[in-house]
Amino acid sequence: MCEAQETMPRPCRPKGACSRCGGRALYVVRDLVMCRPCFLKHIHHRLGRTMNGPLSGSSRPNVTMRPPAQPGAALIALSGGAGSMALLDFLAERNYFGVAGAEYDITRGRVPPVWARAYAVHVAFPDTWATDGLGAKLREAAESRGLTYIEVRAADVYDTALEERVRAQLDGGVVDSANANASDNASRLDALLASVAAASRPTLLAHILDALLGSVAAALPVSHLLLGETATREAQRVIAGTAQGRGWSLPLDLVTLSSQSVARLRGARELSAKEAALYCHARGLESFSWRARRGGGIEALTERFVATLSARHPATVGAITRTASKLQFTGAGNEPRCPLCLRPADPGIAEWKARASLTALPGRQGGEKAQAEQLEPLLCYACATTLKGRKAAELPPYVLAEAAAQRPVSRDEMRAAIADCLL
Ligand SMILES: [Zn+2]
Ligand SMILES: [Zn+2]
Repeated sequence: MCEAQETMPRPCRPKGACSRCGGRALYVVRDLVMCRPCFLKHIHHRLGRTMNGPLSGSSRPNVTMRPPAQPGAALIALSGGAGSMALLDFLAERNYFGVAGAEYDITRGRVPPVWARAYAVHVAFPDTWATDGLGAKLREAAESRGLTYIEVRAADVYDTALEERVRAQLDGGVVDSANANASDNASRLDALLASVAAASRPTLLAHILDALLGSVAAALPVSHLLLGETATREAQRVIAGTAQGRGWSLPLDLVTLSSQSVARLRGARELSAKEAALYCHARGLESFSWRARRGGGIEALTERFVATLSARHPATVGAITRTASKLQFTGAGNEPRCPLCLRPADPGIAEWKARASLTALPGRQGGEKAQAEQLEPLLCYACATTLKGRKAAELPPYVLAEAAAQRPVSRDEMRAAIADCLL
């Protein structure tokens, strides 16, 4: 949906008065009519509730509750969309992160920041890095609020030295993607995208985005990765994920996993895309929507489905996210991870696939076939479908490294290992 349309404030009703203070109403959110200050307060309240719950371990969080200081820094993922811009603005307004050189004299009523430092990361995709000055605008938005801005490109998923590069360049103050292999990596990514069906490309890019955010977070001393995914986007992801056969591990995507070294927090998940866009309008923030995906794919279909349905039935998004929040992950938690999406792979699926799938077609040769055969049993059901019919193309190194770590030991290798112990 076009964000420009969403940001148009509703026309003021002739007798429109703010339902909270009686002032001149400008914004209509669900059944509430609000003036600008009340609307901003309302959005801050919702964002604060979502952020403060997981941070303070409280089941009844509120916006006035101040979460305890966190051990590491925060990494804010900026796509340029309204959700991430609104989240960034809220965190800066409420002093959630510290700014280098700033003093926090608590005796004068200043609250110490939740995170001593914060970074912002933007992953540029082939069809967005040409967008007029998007990177420069995001850099300006981040740096003007005291964050360190990091920009990586989707093709950097092929850069095995990405973590060192991010760390090394941080010391120098500049982080960019100008490395010697940039064009090689870009053509590798192009080849990979061309090797799968057109409908699988958005899913593949989403996994690459996930892996890159994980790599950048691992390179920095961060304890939290903050994502500006809105409720609308989450609803679309729930429907698309279910349709792709990702339902088994889906509940894990919707909660804050603090068991991992870097906890992922979705601060804007209680706001709809419209509310986030209205917030950006009210605060005069520029946001960029590049999600209008061309072509098919389950993501594009569900995006259109949710957008058209919620235009007529405003409760659609809420109903989907509320239902999804009740989903429970039934696994034991020690399942092997799928090397592509890095979510637990249902162990029963490999056996089911072995019975249900036809045997491999003859004709593929050499290392490519061996690589595919080694990878195939490790993939989760949804990723196996995404990569189905893949032509020869180099997989990102993280997939191969993960697969190598997971690969079951073959019978021969086992026998060789215990050869000396056999009676
Ligand atoms: Zn008001
Ligand atoms: Zn997977």
